[in-house]
Amino acid sequence: MEEKVCAYCGDPIEGEPVRRGSKLYCCEACAFEANRSKDCGGRTDSVTSQPLIEFPDGYGR
Ligand SMILES: [Zn+2]
Repeated sequence: MEEKVCAYCGDPIEGEPVRRGSKLYCCEACAFEANRSKDCGGRTDSVTSQPLIEFPDGYGR
């Protein structure tokens, strides 16, 4: 039996693995994060630099 571990977090995969290319992940979230971090160097389709909208309600009061 081949032991499967998540290519992103390293956890053992039980049941149905999530497959992306030749890599296996334990869940969709890991597959998404792994692909996102790999792609972030060459892609500009996601806006990540808007920290100002994250201020809580009480800020500046
Ligand atoms: Zn995982």
